[in-house]
Amino acid sequence: MASIIFDRFESLFRILNPFNEFAEEEHRVEVRKDPLLHDTSIYNPFLKDKAKAFFGQNDGELLDKLARETAEGCIFCGDFVRTKTARYPDAVMPGGRMELGEAVLFANLFSLAPHHPVIVLSNSHFLKPREIKADLLADGFQLSRTYLKDIYERDAAMAFATVNANYLLPAGASLVHPHMQMLISDLPYTYHGRLLDGAAEYQSRSGTSYFADLISVEKTRKERYICRSGNWHWMAAYSPMGSNEIVALHDEESDLGRITVKDLRDLSDGITHVLALYEELGHLSFNFTLYSARGGDSVGFRCLFKIVNRQNLYPNYRNDDYFLQKMLQTDLILNLPEDLAAKARKFFGTA
Ligand SMILES: [Zn+2]
Repeated sequence: MASIIFDRFESLFRILNPFNEFAEEEHRVEVRKDPLLHDTSIYNPFLKDKAKAFFGQNDGELLDKLARETAEGCIFCGDFVRTKTARYPDAVMPGGRMELGEAVLFANLFSLAPHHPVIVLSNSHFLKPREIKADLLADGFQLSRTYLKDIYERDAAMAFATVNANYLLPAGASLVHPHMQMLISDLPYTYHGRLLDGAAEYQSRSGTSYFADLISVEKTRKERYICRSGNWHWMAAYSPMGSNEIVALHDEESDLGRITVKDLRDLSDGITHVLALYEELGHLSFNFTLYSARGGDSVGFRCLFKIVNRQNLYPNYRNDDYFLQKMLQTDLILNLPEDLAAKARKFFGTA
């Protein structure tokens, strides 16, 4: 029996608005709680225009300049990706790097974990989000899956994997050349751990999988559910952890090492639809993560993909991660998730 609760709390208050001759106005905020982790997010309809001012507009000239100037000496470009990037010892990976299509996987010189490869996705130094084609993403994900399976064979303790992307400087990317980073470890990092603990606790309390219940409830309510594409269920997050968050949940599998090449292709197709939606909304910069937990011991977990957009790129841009996000771990809702899902359906061709 599903026990998913979509909590929301509304407050009304009065303000004398200086931009409206100090007329008394009634304002409203809505606080939402994530059904699994109870993380909060805030929606204030009056903030919509101010949020637009916060996010600004991407500066096309600055973007072109950034792409042009960083192309010189980029170690992900041309032959450099095969000659200047760090290699794994041959005993670990024959040849030191792996390739598939345009994707190249190699060791991160500044690793945060024993298993922290970088996966360059394209020959092109710079691609706009709409130019990041599904084939490029799918080949990158396939390399990450091959690498993970290899690590599984060599180390039984390695159970928690993520495949991550930072796109453009506001998202934390140090290089504009399209790439992903994979982390594999024997303990889950904070948020991943909370998801796993939350899912296990839910399963022991209700006897069902949280993610299976979420899919079923969201599908029935049709408010935030976008569509099913292959084994992935796409939806807008009820209480987002970042701007315009969209998630994809695998129908049954928790482990990137066990999902199919077609699953990776379908996931990549979906990502391209989300990137097109973000561009339409005026956002280029984004972060995404695919969370995986090794099969068997991952009670109630599912492969989970989350993507959020980040601050736009313009001179002296303002960081979108301020006290609210960083210290209170609460995000602002710019587009109501229900509206976002409606917009996303057009890009997934299911409107
Ligand atoms: Zn490059």
